[in-house]
Amino acid sequence: MMGDRDYGSVIKNAIDSIGKELEIDIDVKDYNTIHLAEAVQCLRRSYYDRTDPKEVERRGFNDLISGLLRKLEYGSEPKLFEIDDLKLKGQADMIVDDIIIIFRPIDVIPDAPQSSDLLYLNACMWIYDKTDGMILYITSDREEHTFSVTRDNKMFEQVVRRVRVLNDLLKDQKTPILEPSKNCIDCQYYQRCFISKKISKHVSLAEMLGLSKEN
Ligand code: SF4
Repeated sequence: MMGDRDYGSVIKNAIDSIGKELEIDIDVKDYNTIHLAEAVQCLRRSYYDRTDPKEVERRGFNDLISGLLRKLEYGSEPKLFEIDDLKLKGQADMIVDDIIIIFRPIDVIPDAPQSSDLLYLNACMWIYDKTDGMILYITSDREEHTFSVTRDNKMFEQVVRRVRVLNDLLKDQKTPILEPSKNCIDCQYYQRCFISKKISKHVSLAEMLGLSKEN
């Protein structure tokens, strides 16, 4: 018996506090600087994060690994990439022997890298002007797997396009369209996107039967 203290919530609060410290620094009013993390995830989520944010629910210490590595001395410094009058800001988790490395927590090791991770890594290769990169997936059971990737131009063009779209929508205050994916399940905006408000309205039996009062 360890007393009445709720240790589950103590740990959750600790994870949330560390997570806040490690959050990517984004100036929400500076629409001309888009962070790479915003461009590769669902644009609607990035839009809500800037305009009407809701706190994200962190599942465990594994979720913090990428942020922790960025903060450590061998983490890389953020870098800007100019796209006409816009700036794309990216940060690799590590750069070792000219290879860009990003770490991603995951429930189950995938057969192939996730598309948002590929877009992120590939864009980092352009931002830091490197040609090779690696994505390292780690599960909470410490299972890990690495995917090696080489730089691709078409994939980077896709990120540049998404940066421009997010910038336009932020300037025009227009909510981006839904980008449904399996990430929606853990998204803090799931209810906003998929659960419509219940509208209660009294409907008389006559209206339900299509009979107006005049009839
Ligand atoms: S629930 Fe899905 S579509 Fe909606 S913001 Fe989140 S990730 Fe995007």
